[in-house]
Amino acid sequence: MIEVIAIGGYNEVGRNMTAIKVDDEIVIFDIGLYLPAIVGYEDSEQEKLSEEDLRRIKAIPDDSVLYHDRDKVKAIILGHGHLDHIGAVVHLAKKYKNAKIIGTPYTMRVLDSIIKDKGKKLHNKFKSLNVGNSLKISKDLKIEFFNMTHSIPQTALSVLHTKYGKVAYSLDFKLDNTPVLGNKPNYETIGKLEDVKVLFLDSLYSKENSKTPSEKVAREMLREVLLETDNKGKAIVVTTFSSHIARLKSIVEFGNKLGRKVVFLGRSLNRYVRAAEDVGIINFSKKVEIVAYAQKIRKKLKQIDREGASRYLIVCTGNQAEPGSTLTKIANDVFHFKFKKDDFVIFSCKTIPTEENIKNRKKLEEKLNKLGCRLFLDIHVSGHGFKEDGRELIKLIRPEHLIPAHGGRNVTSPAKELWLELGYREDKIHILNDGQKVKIV
Ligand SMILES: [Zn+2]
Repeated sequence: MIEVIAIGGYNEVGRNMTAIKVDDEIVIFDIGLYLPAIVGYEDSEQEKLSEEDLRRIKAIPDDSVLYHDRDKVKAIILGHGHLDHIGAVVHLAKKYKNAKIIGTPYTMRVLDSIIKDKGKKLHNKFKSLNVGNSLKISKDLKIEFFNMTHSIPQTALSVLHTKYGKVAYSLDFKLDNTPVLGNKPNYETIGKLEDVKVLFLDSLYSKENSKTPSEKVAREMLREVLLETDNKGKAIVVTTFSSHIARLKSIVEFGNKLGRKVVFLGRSLNRYVRAAEDVGIINFSKKVEIVAYAQKIRKKLKQIDREGASRYLIVCTGNQAEPGSTLTKIANDVFHFKFKKDDFVIFSCKTIPTEENIKNRKKLEEKLNKLGCRLFLDIHVSGHGFKEDGRELIKLIRPEHLIPAHGGRNVTSPAKELWLELGYREDKIHILNDGQKVKIV
């Protein structure tokens, strides 16, 4: 018997967590954070939040449904390294003491740095699994990773093999045939999968009637702004998702072409870039100076201001206008660095539309406009598949059942429409809420 237990990410965008019970064994996919719940806290305040606090503010999944079965959990599978998928492992994995934590080398490296940063220790076994490989979890269970594209390196489509058939977990994915970093999805091997009982579909943008543009398009948008718009004598400040290594790679290459010194400012940039260097995905060290902590950022910005900002390309945190981020602090005049008229501020990202983010971003844009900056917004393509990506993935995998995930009804309902359009029966699609269980076979 395969039973699905939806734990988190079915009523909100974040704190993703799903358990698959196969007879007397359980495998968990993802244990993520709900980022809007903690975005208002400074790093130092976040450290002080206990598990109970985090649960109360709904920052972590409510996994109490697994309490009596916790010793049956054999593995925690992490398909990629975004915080809404791995950020709560540090808080919750310890209670699943029989569970190995399995992810690609980059995901495991990022997880390790989060655990060390928080000064914690986990006693679970850690296993790195490359895409294209599989690993035995127990006598009856095996996990296999397929190369998939998203917006962070080494993203896997995870497939659990059971004696009743396969469980495929696509959170998160887009189908990018010209990624800037890494390879396109492994269509050939994915297409050969037989007997997939259920597919968990990343449905975040399933209502978008299109196919997600390739990362190559975002690179071209950046090239036009950085190399074909007159920025002589002006500061250039770019903000993007710290884990988007492919995007950072494009920014660094264009910075070098401009003959500017590239500096990365911020703690999360340091974390994701160092992890990518550690596992050999990139080698920025000779081309980029990374400054992680506030005191040193202060010094560096003072130096940049003194030497002339037009000699630099500054990449900093603040893509969601977080109050504690470097960009927001620069705009608020916290550092000895002042924007001058016509300086470039490039947002190579999209605002994740929560009330808090929208409010913060509006405030920041107003401030930057007042300072006379030239703003370049939405120089970005998404890392999540649109409706047509979903269609292709379903056709490739041919699952018997579908479970749309990565948000509430506004996300899962369009996925249901797509399923019916493809000619599947309505009773084979399951729209779940957090805490709900469903038997598949
Ligand atoms: Zn993701």
